[in-house]
Amino acid sequence: MRLVFLGPPGCGKGTQAKVLCQKLGAEHIGTGDLLREAMRTGTPAGREAAFHVDQGHLVPDHVVNDLIAERFARDDRPKRFILDGYPRTLPQAKACDTILSSYQLPLDGVVLIHVPDREIVRRVSGRWSCPKPGCKATYHVISNPPKRKGLCDDCGTPLVQRSDDAPETVEARLVVYHRDTEPLLPYYRAKGLVREVDGTGEITRVRGLLEAAIGD
Ligand code: AMP
Repeated sequence: MRLVFLGPPGCGKGTQAKVLCQKLGAEHIGTGDLLREAMRTGTPAGREAAFHVDQGHLVPDHVVNDLIAERFARDDRPKRFILDGYPRTLPQAKACDTILSSYQLPLDGVVLIHVPDREIVRRVSGRWSCPKPGCKATYHVISNPPKRKGLCDDCGTPLVQRSDDAPETVEARLVVYHRDTEPLLPYYRAKGLVREVDGTGEITRVRGLLEAAIGD
């Protein structure tokens, strides 16, 4: 199982990808998570990314392509994975194909999670996550609250809101999604890879739809 999860910011792709990867023994590779970690530890990639991430813009293609190429260059490269939030532009999609084909690990599918823009803004404003490296659990005040208010269920760390989840930054991220990322759909449709799922409603319902779509 080698998949890309595509969809607007806040459509649930990260939350769903993490759980499905745990269940299926696959690796979750989220470029947003990798970039936030790089920004936290102050690596060159993190320093280059910070300005773009805070504005709700995409970081330059070479930054994320290099992060993905580095992950697959290692001997412990995953054979089963979900790419979450990558690729996000056509040049990234082409770079992704080149990287994966050099290790004979072609994609099995690209799953598009549909959520309307008006629902995205409502959702993202209620989103909280665990900042602890290696945990990164995500919550939502209404649809997926933590058991103890403000604390991570898994490790007890106080939860935080992402700076790029502010409403005006979310609007900017939606513009970028429609302009730069949606053009990936015809690219992947031409390869017969796209499966589409309704991402509205309960998390467990969407998970069921995703499992059906990926044939699990
Ligand atoms: P995410 O957690 O996937 O919503 O990503 C958060 C932010 O990281 C995005 O708004 C971008 O600024 C940046 N980012 C993540 N993945 C990519 C990517 N594949 N290409 C460019 N920028 C990215």
